[in-house]
Amino acid sequence: MIIPKSPKLTDAQVKEIHSIVEDFACSIQVIEGAGQNVYAIVGDERHELMINRLEGLEYVDRVDTIQSPHKLLDIRSELKHHRVLFGGVELGKELLLIGGHCTVDPNEPNKFFETADALKDVGVQALRGGVWKPRTNPYSYQGDVKALDILMEASRRTGLPVNAEVMEEQHLDIALDAGVHMLQVGTRNALNYSLLRQIGKKISGRDTVVLLKRGRHLGPVNEFISAAEYIVNFGNPNVILCPRGTLPGLEGYRNHPDESITPLLKEKTWAPVVVDPSHSVGKSTYVEACSMAAVAYGADGLCIESNIDPMGGLGDDPKQAITPEAFGRLAKKCRAIWDLRRS
Ligand code: PEP
Ligand code: MN
Repeated sequence: MIIPKSPKLTDAQVKEIHSIVEDFACSIQVIEGAGQNVYAIVGDERHELMINRLEGLEYVDRVDTIQSPHKLLDIRSELKHHRVLFGGVELGKELLLIGGHCTVDPNEPNKFFETADALKDVGVQALRGGVWKPRTNPYSYQGDVKALDILMEASRRTGLPVNAEVMEEQHLDIALDAGVHMLQVGTRNALNYSLLRQIGKKISGRDTVVLLKRGRHLGPVNEFISAAEYIVNFGNPNVILCPRGTLPGLEGYRNHPDESITPLLKEKTWAPVVVDPSHSVGKSTYVEACSMAAVAYGADGLCIESNIDPMGGLGDDPKQAITPEAFGRLAKKCRAIWDLRRS
């Protein structure tokens, strides 16, 4: 990682460092941070001669060789100064609350609009809604692109940004063209490096945010962080880690709640953590307790399935969505825990 003395290198300087690292079969990836660019060395950065030549340049402050499996996401990386912004919230400064249906019903636009309005009224800063759905059973409803228009219309009406899951390159293009603000990578695609690569490349230079869910089969924490770093490696550092429960599940729960890995993630990486209690516990009556625990463990935000009519919803909503009223109560308690954390 090359840290320049100035916030940004000139084109000629970038060209010069490129030609040096190429001699050692490496390349340079520019990472644009809020106030400072850093220049990641992609490849084996341990060549002493290469480091000496780079450190010899008058415009280079230092070369950090973090031999970490996820050097860009590492807590010691210069990117720790990067701030992820979403829904008018600077992650880490205020609790981010995302809410909405598991799956947007293409035949019931008003249900989504009413849910969106009610969530906005209780202080939710961003909406979620599944357009394309990964399912446990391949013959279950898989989603409908018509739902995307409903999601974007809800965003226009409320002024809130939206999150939607993408599962393949075609979804990605459609979602980005429509203006989806946060792309969700679901637990089943957590290690789909081809998808992560496509996302990383396509969001480079945009302010799109990625919510990366943790792999559900007890995904090792380093693997989770490395997958997030792979997205960042293409130039956009707006990535958020999302614990959402792992398998095998705790008896009586949909998954094994894993909000407790947040302090561990925080120790290793600078990336914000937004916990999904809905898929973690899988039962609406347990969502509030899991949310409070997540905030107590240090989460920067929560992504919660919510519906004005859970029983009439699609996908997971009948079993795990909470009503906007319940969301309002939960928000109050979680914000109180957030304040306690700061006291
Ligand atoms: C969802 O958010 O509705 C979803 C399917 O999430 P996960 O990938 O965590 O199961
Ligand atoms: Mn769901």
